[in-house]
Amino acid sequence: GFSRYSTATALEEEPIKPAVQVEHTQLLIGGKFVDALSGKTFPTLDPRTGEVIAHVAEGHSEDVDRAVAAARKAFDQGPWPKMTAYERQRILLRAADLLEKHNDELAALETWDNGKPYEQSAQIEIPMLVRLFRYYAGWADKIHGMTVPADGQYHVQTLHEPIGVAGQIIPWNFPLLMFAWKVGPALACGNTIVLKTAEQTPLSALYAAKLFHEVGHILYKWNHAHLLAGLPEGVLNVVSGFGPTAGAALASHMDVDKLAFTGSTDTGKVVLELAARSNLKPVTLELGGKSPFIVCEDADVDQAVELAHFALFFNQGQCCCAGSRTYVHERVYDEFVEKAKARALKRIVGDPFKSGIEQGPQIDSEQFEKILKYIRSGVQSGATLETGGDRLGSKGFYVQPTVFSNVEDGMLIAKEEIFGPVQSILKFKDLDEVIERANNTRYGLAAGVFTKNIDTANTLTRALRVGTVWVNCFDTFDAAIPFGGYKMSGQGREKGEYSLKNYLQVKAVVTPLKNPAWL
Ligand code: NAD
Repeated sequence: GFSRYSTATALEEEPIKPAVQVEHTQLLIGGKFVDALSGKTFPTLDPRTGEVIAHVAEGHSEDVDRAVAAARKAFDQGPWPKMTAYERQRILLRAADLLEKHNDELAALETWDNGKPYEQSAQIEIPMLVRLFRYYAGWADKIHGMTVPADGQYHVQTLHEPIGVAGQIIPWNFPLLMFAWKVGPALACGNTIVLKTAEQTPLSALYAAKLFHEVGHILYKWNHAHLLAGLPEGVLNVVSGFGPTAGAALASHMDVDKLAFTGSTDTGKVVLELAARSNLKPVTLELGGKSPFIVCEDADVDQAVELAHFALFFNQGQCCCAGSRTYVHERVYDEFVEKAKARALKRIVGDPFKSGIEQGPQIDSEQFEKILKYIRSGVQSGATLETGGDRLGSKGFYVQPTVFSNVEDGMLIAKEEIFGPVQSILKFKDLDEVIERANNTRYGLAAGVFTKNIDTANTLTRALRVGTVWVNCFDTFDAAIPFGGYKMSGQGREKGEYSLKNYLQVKAVVTPLKNPAWL
């Protein structure tokens, strides 16, 4: 039976009331909260019940135009790209302090709008958000060009300049972390921003962006002290709205100098094309995945089960890098399957505001239905449903932790991104075979390798065509570790030093040398 989540009846109880008010539902343009020009709004829903949390301003292309104009002005005329790097750093550090101070409100908004466990929001994600802004603040005053040796009598230097107005489109699975991955490096490099949040989760980014404007700060400019209210107006604009309207307007805008996108591979293709057809703005893409998690024959099975469980089920399975193909060596396969099933049965599903909850509801009815469809497809294609397989409770978007064994590479559940709590376990015989099968996908975002053998680990880490290999760990996301995809999982890298070059132009300055002492 479903020992832990047979508490499905608990899901019929009144949902816990979040300890936060929704304060900001308008667009943030030029430092002010404003309605959409059309006056339109859209509802954002509580995934626990499907009920409306708030109505949020629905930005369209004319609102994106206003936001881009504000960002353009702030870049071309404003103090932001021209102030000293130290001043920018101080603003980022103070913003991080303020975000930290509002940890619990931000966490509550994130959980309310997204459905993820509150303890995960409050203890992992918001502290990580703060950490990311401190990390990028650290970079702000360490960005500089080079002196380049050149043929002939020239002094050649490169200047690393901000690229201009950055358009950023983010998804709903980690609303605030995606905000930080995009906004952090762009601001550290001196750019201005128009960010479009996902229509499922508009609330937390508006709150966070507002805090940036409350960072009191003295800016010294031409020897006059100016008191700024925080981030100069127009530097960080947030537009809520839908993809095909607000998102497409941003991707195709002639005055946006750079585009960064995280979401599905299909939409990644659309925005890349929009960018190419408009002004050829450079694009970074962080897209989908079907990441292998490889359990080798020498693995401690109990540990491997726990880690593979975490790799797939974390965040309700809604991770681009989820370990969604669990490859297990034939020698430990039967034991692994039995224990993976037992672990899934113990998973604690419930109201994400309750303490000790491991899994909340999926984000919305669309994802919920899509996951159930994939589960039916798994059963139809002949995989063994070990546990789960259905919704949980009668309201909201809860899905039973589901485990399939005897999964074959050709099945849809092994090929496509399910983005839900559905583990697919596959059997393998030897390393060459599992390398071939693990790489036999259009995706290349991440992989997990579980082994005590250093030769096996080295072989796999080098053979797998993915942007991240986690060896005996998974989802380790330090601010300094670059993240991104091979193949159709994306272009470019976010986080770490690598992320900075997405937001910088390189200018070569060439000056003849008069009377050089030596060449
Ligand atoms: P999506 O790619 O459609 O949405 C991501 C963002 O892109 C949102 O802000 C959305 O409004 C915007 N967008 C959508 N259409 C657009 C367009 N034509 N032009 C510009 N922007 C547009 O993803 P989704 O529909 O929310 O989820 C669908 C699937 O994507 C999921 O099931 C999952 O497989 C995948 N996904 C991946 C990630 C990731 O982190 N890589 C995140 C969320 C979803």
